[in-house]
Amino acid sequence: MRAEHQLPIVVVGAGSAGVVVASHLAQDPAIRVLLIDNGDQLGGTSLLNYMVGMWGMREDYDWQQKFGCKGWGWESVQRTFSLLPDVLHCVDESDAGDVDKALLAAAVSRKVPIVGNLYREVLSGRGAGWTALTMKNGKRHSVVETYMSSCTNFANLSIRLQTEVDSVVVNGMRATGVQLTSGELIEARGVVLCAGALASPVLLRRSGIDKPGIGNGLKNHPSIALSFALRESAQSSVCIGANIRESSSIGIGDINILSMNFVDPQQRVGAIIGGVMQVTSQGNVEYDPNTRSGKVFFNTLSTEHDVLVMRETIRQVHAYAESPQMQAIASNACSDDQGTAAEWLGDASDEQIDVWSREQSGVYSHPACTCAMGSPENESAVVNEFGQVIGFENLWVCDASVLPDLPRANTHLPVVMVANRIGAMLREKFRC
Ligand SMILES: Cc1cc2nc3c(=O)[nH]c(=O)nc-3n(C[C@H](O)[C@H](O)[C@H](O)COP(=O)(O)OP(=O)(O)OC[C@H]3O[C@@H](n4cnc5c(N)ncnc54)[C@H](O)[C@@H]3O)c2cc1C
Repeated sequence: MRAEHQLPIVVVGAGSAGVVVASHLAQDPAIRVLLIDNGDQLGGTSLLNYMVGMWGMREDYDWQQKFGCKGWGWESVQRTFSLLPDVLHCVDESDAGDVDKALLAAAVSRKVPIVGNLYREVLSGRGAGWTALTMKNGKRHSVVETYMSSCTNFANLSIRLQTEVDSVVVNGMRATGVQLTSGELIEARGVVLCAGALASPVLLRRSGIDKPGIGNGLKNHPSIALSFALRESAQSSVCIGANIRESSSIGIGDINILSMNFVDPQQRVGAIIGGVMQVTSQGNVEYDPNTRSGKVFFNTLSTEHDVLVMRETIRQVHAYAESPQMQAIASNACSDDQGTAAEWLGDASDEQIDVWSREQSGVYSHPACTCAMGSPENESAVVNEFGQVIGFENLWVCDASVLPDLPRANTHLPVVMVANRIGAMLREKFRC
């Protein structure tokens, strides 16, 4: 048997968080790192997301005060955000599309202040600007290009793709390795689960770890879209080039409105999307011990708060769609994929809007909070401020699941921020 310090730290999942964590650990040549993913390439969801970069708002990160996560407050989080490699491309007039330009012009006429760097504006409840995208030289810049290119030749980093982890091997209250679905056992000095908000809680349960918070507290940003026929086909190379932060009557900066220059391959259909960015509805990932799998219940729009903010989001998106600026470039806004004209929304009662939002709303694909970080005294907390599973040695979780609450932002950059901080803490811990 090998001495423990010769064993690898196994990082499970090579997405937005896992790649960052593995790259931090691999910077120390004395630490052996094994990065495992069940997909056929590195990058996870950062390879397919819409690339919109946002930090959120200052109070979104008062985690020490609200959840007892020591060391997590705006000052420290901002430091990490500011030090992230600069991979954001800010769209401008030269690459923006007609929908972007019309949406921003409509925002100006609605007296929304134009903000230069909306992605890192953390105080204003209203603001409009060009979108910041995780792109370089016109191409997606995922966490792979940003964090992995410098370490793929490191002798201490091994990568196994198309390899599915079944569970963590736990001996008493200590993780000693992982078991693959192929049956293979891999001994480890430590295990970091970065499998994403829907998979990490399932992996914990499959490993026999049973804490009340695991899989609970699931949050997501509900969204709606109005699509329309463009008068001329879209010429823009970017899909989403305009970003607007609005406020509801009961919140600040809790509505997000995005342009979509094209939603169809012919580029003749555009859309405006609206998202509720501060939510109180919670769902869960329910674990079934018989099938050893998890079933996801998003439970979105299940609180009065969220229904009300969604109603106001819809009214605002409709107002943008009906604006003279949008009418100049598009016609026939539709409220569903059967082509129902969206005009009716103008006279619709609150009840009609609520029924419609229940039928038509989707989500921004920002699942989070299913292994929430918090104080060990808090029963619903799953990991502590280091990402360590409370009560267990050598076992950490670091991905969207550990966010204790959803920020008013798309989640990729917040997850990357968290992974940079936990990755650095782990490297320090494992320094020989
Ligand atoms: C369609 C879509 C659009 C989005 N658009 C945006 C956007 O524009 N801006 C933004 O900020 N955010 C966006 N997001 C959200 C954002 O990309 C995610 O919040 C973020 O990437 C989550 O990172 P993660 O590390 O938690 O999980 P992931 O990046 O999903 O990584 C998890 C990895 O674990 C692997 N894995 C899971 N289970 C196992 C297992 N048992 N064994 C081995 N490997 C396993 C998975 O294959 C995956 O590679 C979008 C998401 C989607 C789905």
